[in-house]
Amino acid sequence: MKTIRLTIDKDNIDPELIEQAAGVVRRGGLVAFPTETVYGLGADACDPDAARSIYAAKGRPSDNPLIVHIWDVSQLYTIASEVPEVGKKLFDAFWPGPMTVIVKKNGRIPRETTGGLDTVAVRMPSHPIARELIKVSGRMIAAPSANSSGRPSPTRADHVWDDLEGRIDMLIDGGDVELGLESTIIDLTEPVPMILRPGFITQEMLENVIGEVQTDPGITSADTATSGLAPKAPGMRYRHYAPKGNLSIIEGPEEEVAAFIEKNCDEQRAAGRRTAVLCRSETRHLYNRANEVIVMGDRGDEEAVAAKLFAVLRQMDEDRVDCIFSESFRGAGVAEAVMNRLMKAAGHQLIRVGS
Ligand code: AMP
Ligand code: MG
Repeated sequence: MKTIRLTIDKDNIDPELIEQAAGVVRRGGLVAFPTETVYGLGADACDPDAARSIYAAKGRPSDNPLIVHIWDVSQLYTIASEVPEVGKKLFDAFWPGPMTVIVKKNGRIPRETTGGLDTVAVRMPSHPIARELIKVSGRMIAAPSANSSGRPSPTRADHVWDDLEGRIDMLIDGGDVELGLESTIIDLTEPVPMILRPGFITQEMLENVIGEVQTDPGITSADTATSGLAPKAPGMRYRHYAPKGNLSIIEGPEEEVAAFIEKNCDEQRAAGRRTAVLCRSETRHLYNRANEVIVMGDRGDEEAVAAKLFAVLRQMDEDRVDCIFSESFRGAGVAEAVMNRLMKAAGHQLIRVGS
């Protein structure tokens, strides 16, 4: 299949180009498009064959459900069998934006789209290209992240092209995304609403609007086999984002973290391996031994780290780095989402140094 690549300016959207992409969706084809979180791979959410072709293009396990994207809240009521009161408050507060809700579905969304579940994940994105595409297509658009399954989510059009060129009908290049991490997923079918995936909309922000919210204990446990805690979102159970090289996260007092990393870089390089360090701008001067030192952002600027993380993980593969040592970005708020993705990418290899 030849993939058509369209460039659309998000600040000056060409209606003819959007119509071209919308036509592909209406005909049951696959269109990758930018959202404010990451690039999505979209198809008609009500067409089971279109949903199946999303799984095929990504190599995604068929039990991992897709998020249905809408441009207006009224669409949610056409596919949900039940919308709790807290949901309405959340839509008012956070839509359009990087929040996905899980609700019970009616028969309109096929099981192919929801990986066999009788619940459905719904999000209203804020990105102008995503919104126009959904609106003009006249459909709801099922869209997982537009990467091959297992790779880091795409934050720019070239990432999508690298993974899916020749496997999808169209790619809309709308430039780099703004946020860089996937949406917060909150399950509204639980008695107490539960975060299944942390993101930019934090637990505190959600609690300020609807009161008590819990976080799925399964998403923080390293080993579901021994803890018995499997994450509720099927997608959170899979190996994800991992670079080809070995990634470990080093946590502790900054001087000791740096000393540990420097020593390990020396050893790895002596053994002929290429090394990289991911650090903060404040600690950049502590690193001299790695082949590459990548500044992820300033201390406290988790948004900057989030926006760069997936692109840096891809760069590690391109640069054929064998050993990647990352400082820890632990903290509250968006840092939780950053650490959740970084820990997955590292296969939960966290080394604590110092006292
Ligand atoms: P992606 O769009 O690639 O970021 O993946 C969507 C995420 O949403 C995956 O982790 C899915 O497992 C999760 N998800 C989608 N629908 C549901 C659902 N009905 N229940 C629980 N998790 C869901
Ligand atoms: Mg994904």
